[in-house]
Amino acid sequence: MRLAVLAFAAAAALPVLAAEPQHPLMPLYDAAGITRACDGGIDRARKAIAQMEARKGAGTIFTEWNQLQMRIEDVINPIYLLSNVSPDKAVRDAAEPCLQKFTSLQTEIFQDEKLFKRVQAAQPANPHQQKLRKDLIEGFEDSGVALPPDKRARAKEIFDKLEELRQAYDRNVRDDPTRVKFTPAEMEGMPEAYLKAHEKARDAEGNYVLTLKYPSYVPFLTNAKNGEARHRYYVAKLNEGGQPNLELLYEIFKLRQELAGLYGLPSFADYSLRRKMVGNPETVNKFLDNVKSAVTDLEKKDVEELRAEKAKELGQPLDKTRLERWDVSYYQEKVRKSRFNIDQEKLRRYFPTDKSMEYTMLVAQTLYGVKFQERKVPVWHPDVRYFDVLDGKTGKYISGFYLDLFPREGKYNHAAAFPIRGVSTLAHRTPLSALVTNFNREGLDHNELETMMHEFGHVMHGVLSQAEYNPHAGTSVKVDFVEAPSQMFEEWARREDSLKLFAQVCPGCPHLTSDDIARLEAARKYGQGIRYARQWLYAKFDMELSTNPRPPLAVWKGLESATPLGYVEGTMFPASFSHIASNYAAGYYGYMWSEVLALDMLSPFKGHMLDPQVGVRYRETILSQGGQQEEADMVRKFLGREPSSDAFFAEITGRR
Ligand SMILES: [Zn+2]
Repeated sequence: MRLAVLAFAAAAALPVLAAEPQHPLMPLYDAAGITRACDGGIDRARKAIAQMEARKGAGTIFTEWNQLQMRIEDVINPIYLLSNVSPDKAVRDAAEPCLQKFTSLQTEIFQDEKLFKRVQAAQPANPHQQKLRKDLIEGFEDSGVALPPDKRARAKEIFDKLEELRQAYDRNVRDDPTRVKFTPAEMEGMPEAYLKAHEKARDAEGNYVLTLKYPSYVPFLTNAKNGEARHRYYVAKLNEGGQPNLELLYEIFKLRQELAGLYGLPSFADYSLRRKMVGNPETVNKFLDNVKSAVTDLEKKDVEELRAEKAKELGQPLDKTRLERWDVSYYQEKVRKSRFNIDQEKLRRYFPTDKSMEYTMLVAQTLYGVKFQERKVPVWHPDVRYFDVLDGKTGKYISGFYLDLFPREGKYNHAAAFPIRGVSTLAHRTPLSALVTNFNREGLDHNELETMMHEFGHVMHGVLSQAEYNPHAGTSVKVDFVEAPSQMFEEWARREDSLKLFAQVCPGCPHLTSDDIARLEAARKYGQGIRYARQWLYAKFDMELSTNPRPPLAVWKGLESATPLGYVEGTMFPASFSHIASNYAAGYYGYMWSEVLALDMLSPFKGHMLDPQVGVRYRETILSQGGQQEEADMVRKFLGREPSSDAFFAEITGRR
């Protein structure tokens, strides 16, 4: 899962505005500091809200709202980040109840009739205010301000409960204690570096006792020769979160359905999608049908190829060979090695982690006309680095970001970009973000280089934003657009003219030849049928539950059983599908929907991937705008035409 721009885009805060610091930094609270900052922040927000309520008419409501939101963000965003990265468990634990309090506060704000009336009365003076008014009114409506009092109270209860259940669900995944034991013989096929990294995970008998975390699980499924061992690990991983999460997820979707019912809407999908680019469930279903038609035969073909590979390796007849889900990564990797001569493990020498980061930053600097300058500042862990973002020509300070690249105990275990401060040009406020990943210290494989660039694409969306109002800052865009800038930036990990820049950041590294890059691209495209069929399945499952909540495992079994590889007995994937327990519900399709736009937005580069003229135009039309324009309008403006899904369908059918 490559995502998690967890925009705690609450709205909120105070009419009195302190001077903005020149180079704002992340506050580093201890546990007591978290509680103090949280309670103090809520107190101040409530006072500000009371003052806002007391005013009559629209007045300066947009400015007041901007300030309220910045105040709230200044409290909650750093606490949210610390809950994910602090090395101190007490700090992480202190953050959870605070997140709950702020969810509750946000609903209160958006159920506040006095504030609602003031926003309704406002006459926008420009397009940004007009968009802000529209967004706020939708926020009020979605929170139930216009509902009769009993229904409004029930909506509030549902929002509070949903946040509580989401936290419980995520906790069950994060703290799943499952360990899977493998004998040294079962480690056959695992790279030296992997064995070395897991030396500490060995028990007294020399067995490897592995957790369900990605850095242990993914390479094992890709490399371990023993099919029975892969099966054991697969089933354990697909039980992560456990039975309680199946029940939590069902309850979450039933509550969402009830919420939609309060508005007289037929389903949560209707409730949620009316605020997204797609507008309604029909558009999503039609899109998913098109994806399905494009990938059905490709998936079968991919599966047949891997089955043949398995029969060959095991020296058994094809008609006696069945390809299993825990075989897919393993045989795909074998084909990639034999057919394309691509060995992901060997690529780590080409992409040392620190040099990969420099490369990623060099691409962004070249494209967007900016400079990054490292500065020593206080950080939450010695591994963390900080950079100023400066204008490439004038050297003027624009914003800043942190890099927290390596795994450690208790840290968020995926890759994500966290907004710490959103921009507001109106308030002369500059943005600040953090990149949080779990990379191998020595080097990256090609997938990981793409992940690094993906998340850095989110960081750029945050820190190059020039939105006037804070609620529109950076990644505060529709959920089915937010993955477009990040998925687009992955492309610079694939193209020859950008990859050649690697020699500049690391003259001593082995360099990819044109032929290497072509093979890398061919290997990447290999297996698109299986990959997109799986993405389709996740999106379809999400839409099914969002349209008609039923026990999640039964729905999942039904859908997965209808695929060429079938359902694996004893697994419960819905117990760890965190996306749909949180704000990607009725939104998982958004990855593919965003990718349609991401791939289409590559066309203005006309193959010149480092053309700074197009890069700067992209920065101005898309990145800098955040959510202050309609997403479809921004894309149209950048393309100079209507968006097209041709590039996306060419990508999934391997013709791009
Ligand atoms: Zn993402």
